[in-house]
Amino acid sequence: MSVLERLSPTPVWQYFEEICRIPRLSKNEVKIREYLLDFARSNNLESKEDKIGNILISRPSHPGMENRKTVVLQSHMDMVGEKNADHPHDWSNDPIIPVIKNGWVTATGTTLGADDGIGIASQMAILTDKSLKAGRIECLFTVDEESGMTGAINLKPDFFEGRILINLDSEDEGVLYIGCAGGLDTIGTINYKGETVPAGTTALEISVTGLHGGHSGDEIHKGYGNSVKIMNSILRNLSNRFPISLSNFDGGNIRNAIPREAFATIVADRSFTRQMAEWIESFYKTLLEDFGDLEKDLKIGVKDTTGLPQFVMDRNTQERLLSSLDGCPHGVIAWSKDMEDLVETSTNLASVKFTGGNTIRIITTQRSSIESSKKDAAAMIETCLKLAGARVKHSRGYPGWKPDMNSEILKITRNSYKKLFGQEPAVRAIHAGLECGLIHEKFKGIDMISFGPTIRGAHTPEEKIEIKTTRMFWDLLLDVLGNIPFKR
Ligand SMILES: [Zn+2]
Repeated sequence: MSVLERLSPTPVWQYFEEICRIPRLSKNEVKIREYLLDFARSNNLESKEDKIGNILISRPSHPGMENRKTVVLQSHMDMVGEKNADHPHDWSNDPIIPVIKNGWVTATGTTLGADDGIGIASQMAILTDKSLKAGRIECLFTVDEESGMTGAINLKPDFFEGRILINLDSEDEGVLYIGCAGGLDTIGTINYKGETVPAGTTALEISVTGLHGGHSGDEIHKGYGNSVKIMNSILRNLSNRFPISLSNFDGGNIRNAIPREAFATIVADRSFTRQMAEWIESFYKTLLEDFGDLEKDLKIGVKDTTGLPQFVMDRNTQERLLSSLDGCPHGVIAWSKDMEDLVETSTNLASVKFTGGNTIRIITTQRSSIESSKKDAAAMIETCLKLAGARVKHSRGYPGWKPDMNSEILKITRNSYKKLFGQEPAVRAIHAGLECGLIHEKFKGIDMISFGPTIRGAHTPEEKIEIKTTRMFWDLLLDVLGNIPFKR
């Protein structure tokens, strides 16, 4: 029985409902790939696949439209599988059950997969739309976007011919995306000498908790506290005032999150502990005032531990570590000159951990929509870490997509939007990675844009897609495809 059959546009929702029945978690895309290839065969459409599993299905030009530029429509065929703990769901067999609720389509106990199932469904509807008069359209379905973008990474530059690409993987109707950030990790490793704990000392555990955290791309400009930075300020200030020795520093967790918590263990002469606790208390008050409403739940705790640690870090390395983390930047480095409110370059001091074997690992992530700025930021962090004697490595990273305000497809989409809806769409770039960055790097001179209907709660069981904006998205897509210019 069909749940979505009365929704408009009919073909998009019909295909979407079909896709809901096909398991397609990242790296388990066999069934969706078979489904798409069958679809191409039964509709007499040209199709091909590459070694990694990406699929291209094309429709020829409408008679008389042969000299229009070719357009690529792109979606990813995988999805994130999240479910409520009490909801039984076998991701390799069970269908997703869509339901309509107050103008939105959502799923029952699981992610819906509108990210990016609505992209796939729209491509299928375009491929089979008999009334659309357009030039050649190539539909690219990538694999594994959600767990590593290996589909986009392994695309070959001759897989499709179009040099205008519309990415169908964004989540805000009324917003046209024209850029994204590239990123890479910079990781430092420091070795220290373990020294025996001095006599007459006591160990204290310090904790920084209750911070907001957040995504290191989307939320880096919001000014939230960084627990590693705060802990380091405490330790450096204490070490300037009292003879302390560090035996543990554990802050932050994942590379693309702003760290929310940090813990440290220090050893100090018993006679100083009261003064130290007083200093921390006053520092805490200052921080709370400085953050105001932004970090109301920040807590800093100090407690005596039972027993002493076996070893502490040698003084020399300790001083270098604390100074280096002090100098290591965190947050926005530059704002875009072309686009209002776009963070162009940033860095996240993501984590510091004692990893055993007398080593400390420091993980940082840099992002920028400009390739050279991304590398400059990584070099700056490398210098800071090297001053502490760290060995530094960079991950390979992924490229960004620099906004081009003169883009032809942007002009066309803007005009269509104004004509259809009587208002200007917002034009934005995001400070996080998209497949578009990889495609932009590989297909030289490609002109790209990304837009889609409104989706909320992606990657959670609350995921939902707005019905009204899906209609708007479809009308916009059709109008844009009907207005692609002639080949030069
Ligand atoms: Zn997506």
